[in-house]
Amino acid sequence: MAYSERVRETYQQQLGGIKDAGLFKQERFIHSSQAADIEVEFPSGSALKNVINMCANNYLGLSSHPDVIKAAHEGLDTRGYGMSSVRFICGTQDIHRELENKVTEFLGTEDTILFPSCMDANAGVFEAVLTKDDVMISDRLVHASIIDGIRLCAAEHDTFKHSNMDHLEKKLQLHADKRFKIVITDGVFSMDGDTAKLAEMVSLCEQYDAMLFLDDSHASGFIGKTGRGTHEQCGVVGKIDIITTTFGKALGGASGGCVSGRKELVEMCRQRARPYLFSNTVAPVVVSGVLKVLDILSASTERRDKLETNADYWRKGLTEAGFVLKEGDTPIIPVMLFNAKLAQDVSRDLFDEGIYAIGFFFPVVPQGQARIRTQISAGHERHHLDKALEAFIKVGKKYDILGKTKQEIIAKYGK
Ligand SMILES: *Cc1c(COP(=O)(O)O)cnc(C)c1O
Repeated sequence: MAYSERVRETYQQQLGGIKDAGLFKQERFIHSSQAADIEVEFPSGSALKNVINMCANNYLGLSSHPDVIKAAHEGLDTRGYGMSSVRFICGTQDIHRELENKVTEFLGTEDTILFPSCMDANAGVFEAVLTKDDVMISDRLVHASIIDGIRLCAAEHDTFKHSNMDHLEKKLQLHADKRFKIVITDGVFSMDGDTAKLAEMVSLCEQYDAMLFLDDSHASGFIGKTGRGTHEQCGVVGKIDIITTTFGKALGGASGGCVSGRKELVEMCRQRARPYLFSNTVAPVVVSGVLKVLDILSASTERRDKLETNADYWRKGLTEAGFVLKEGDTPIIPVMLFNAKLAQDVSRDLFDEGIYAIGFFFPVVPQGQARIRTQISAGHERHHLDKALEAFIKVGKKYDILGKTKQEIIAKYGK
């Protein structure tokens, strides 16, 4: 039968359904390197357009930093392009261990193990350290990659309502009989930009003899007064048993991730975690780049400080203009539009004005909570933010949403 017409039509129908529902994701081709100013081909085949990027995870503006590029070049020259091996066969270079040690020091943990990505770290870590006698209790809004890791693990799974500490406590009581309990949360939640209540979670974990797992992908490098992450901001450095994070966002933005934490747990991952054992070593060029990123961040807080100032300025500007925002104090600043079509229309009009900011809607966020998620960078200068604000206000006026409440916007556009 092979790839018969019946098979083809089934998939064509499914794809048609995704399009009809207005949920089809169209990629835009960027012809420049990642930065505040980018050149974009969109729609495909059209002339290049210069736009200000307001939706990258390039929080610290390091994705195309000359010192990082230089370090990556040096890594390429001295350690080659690829290792053609997994770590435990012949894929570990001195710089891989050097980076693991640097991350350990940066995060204030006991040990670290690199993974090809944070997705892989999350996919591998639970299965490596837990058994069917254990329970994983996760916040209901954790990242998709954590859900996948949970699915691959034999331990029981339960959830608590987002950031609801009373509910978490009830769940900890409910699972008192388990061998081990592990509480699982993101540090900064990527869709809303809010921060986990880590200090309370640490207290609860101590009280109920549970471990604590933190995915700090949207925090490592810039949250906390020296940018170590959510655990620094919440005053619980050294008290998180497992931290996973990515090098694919603030920390240079190339790729790679890690599990960092208690040394026995890290060693268990080295022996058992399948995405570590069965996927190729992080490329030397990336390792060299991340080493330089950590040097830059350890030498000065200038970049995270600038990011904080930029994010405050942007949040204040949007608030004064009369947009409905999600509460928070991170560089993830969602402009709420509630209606999926409105979010897409606003995004398209912003693009025409030279501002690149993507609309998010179901199933990425709950139904009726469509938004434009803006992400601020230390790579933004004041003129970028001012120009973007001007465009947001122009488009906001066009759709008559400035100064309107959530209820008024929903009344006009529906959910
Ligand atoms: C982006 C992200 C990941 C995935 O990181 P990659 O290194 O790109 O695989 C995992 N967890 C969270 C919370 C993220 O935001």
